Amino acid sequence: MQTKVKKGTIVIDSEKCKGCKYCVLTCPQKCIEISSSFNSSGYFAAKFSNPLNCIGCAMCAVVCPELAIEVFVKD
Ligand code: SF4
Ligand code: SF4
Repeated sequence: MQTKVKKGTIVIDSEKCKGCKYCVLTCPQKCIEISSSFNSSGYFAAKFSNPLNCIGCAMCAVVCPELAIEVFVKD
């Protein structure tokens, strides 16, 4: 019997992001990278670059010190 893998998606508030990379380093699916353009505070913000691989585990949101990430899970 196969276990169905959950799919997830995230929304990153780039204006809250300080570019610390915690989410990039924590994501087990390598879904997040740092953007090459900066936000209005001058930080290179995280971006959701690989959405197809997201499993909605929420680890990125848990480690984000700025509460900049929202996670949505779909069955
Ligand atoms: S919810 Fe999990 S898989 Fe999806 S981006 Fe965040 S850490 Fe990665
Ligand atoms: S953990 Fe939060 S503040 Fe740090 S890079 Fe990711 S979204 Fe930005």
